[in-house]
Amino acid sequence: MHSKQETKPKLLWLQGVTCNGNTHSFLNLPSLPLLLSQFELLYLPSIETKYTLEEISKCKLSCDILIFEGAFDPQLKRNDVLMSEMLNHYAQSAKYIIAAGSCASFGGMFKASAPQRNSGLLFNEADKTGPMLHVDNHVINLSGCPIHPEWLGYTLNMILNNQKIAVDELHRPVELYSTLAHHGCTRNEYFEWKIDAKGFGLKEGCLFYEQGCRGPMTHASCNKILWNEVSSKTRSGTPCFGCTEPTFPRENLFHTKTNMSIPEDVPLGISKRSYLTMAGIAKTFHIKRLEGKLIDYKTTP
Ligand code: SF4
Repeated sequence: MHSKQETKPKLLWLQGVTCNGNTHSFLNLPSLPLLLSQFELLYLPSIETKYTLEEISKCKLSCDILIFEGAFDPQLKRNDVLMSEMLNHYAQSAKYIIAAGSCASFGGMFKASAPQRNSGLLFNEADKTGPMLHVDNHVINLSGCPIHPEWLGYTLNMILNNQKIAVDELHRPVELYSTLAHHGCTRNEYFEWKIDAKGFGLKEGCLFYEQGCRGPMTHASCNKILWNEVSSKTRSGTPCFGCTEPTFPRENLFHTKTNMSIPEDVPLGISKRSYLTMAGIAKTFHIKRLEGKLIDYKTTP
């Protein structure tokens, strides 16, 4: 986006109805100081920036990249100025508008609590009826609750390097959202042989059937691009609850809905009949190595 001789691109971060989780997640990006040094940072909540929110709210400045966190609420004011007015002003100059997190992408948690009022920038769940339709080809959705800091880092680096960012039908970068959270999960062998985890935080077992894991139907690269460069929810024994999808949040996050013991949702792209056949065969095997504790401290010297 800029050569060393040119001015740095102007980055602005605004907030709608939010818990601040995406800001905090982004502040955990290991390469944050280096990344931010390549921008002129107009405003980002929680850290010192060139302008205050009061100055930003006067709508006298322009930006190249606008990051928006939180659900859009037409009534919401910041510093006595309607957020919709600020958004519309800065969207005029922004070449990229990044919806940071699931609330800004699809409405998320705050749409669930006030569905008549709150929405994403471009989408209301999966319906493209949000307030930024007039600039829709500028909008990139980085869904997640909260946003994965590396996904935002990737997107900003692509912009800095003038790289084209291909997106899916929900405006999410395909490089980050074409695989499922299931891909790369260390519990895949347990999934294949239908050995269930009996609780959270255990090293053994798959979290799909008994703990509500949505990994096999959630577009996200959490098990490919690890959190804090170390782990992921499913690796640490917590089910994926599908936070990157427009349907998030579902009711009963940690429950797999079943009908006569058959899961209501099966892995994406696989027919229920195929899934049940495979699961039925897998369950007839007993694999001692996978049925016990991975580490038995009683027998470990
Ligand atoms: S825990 Fe979830 S993501 Fe991991 S293998 Fe089981 S279903 Fe897939």
